[in-house]
Amino acid sequence: MSNIIKKDGYDYCFDASACSICQARCCTGESGYIHVSTDEIKKISNFLNLEIADFMQKFLFKHGYRYSIKERKCGESYECAFYNREANGCMIYEVRPMQCMTFPFWDYYKNRVDELKLECPGVIDV
Ligand code: SF4
Ligand code: SF4
Repeated sequence: MSNIIKKDGYDYCFDASACSICQARCCTGESGYIHVSTDEIKKISNFLNLEIADFMQKFLFKHGYRYSIKERKCGESYECAFYNREANGCMIYEVRPMQCMTFPFWDYYKNRVDELKLECPGVIDV
């Protein structure tokens, strides 16, 4: 079965098989924001069996009018609080935020494919 994903409006494809050898560059590296909506906060809290307030205090910080998942410093870089280095995967994969689910098909990258390719080895030309 093909792992190549295409999306209307994007000049590139995504080969999902690249994730198994990539070491999660989209969950690690430079510091960034991993935004979560109110609905996602409820879902992730529920998934982790935590009260919403406890989850927010432990894992989120305010960024403007939104919330973002905290990161850990790891050497010279950063990693999402939910990245599991041993398993090379996301601890909340089933309920990960929409931002993570839709990567690498973000509007921001529509006209920045070269920049995206540096971050994600799964991005290939159409
Ligand atoms: S950077 Fe790309 S290839 Fe690597 S884990 Fe993320 S989506 Fe997969
Ligand atoms: S929530 Fe999961 S998929 Fe999203 S950045 Fe964190 S570890 Fe990666």
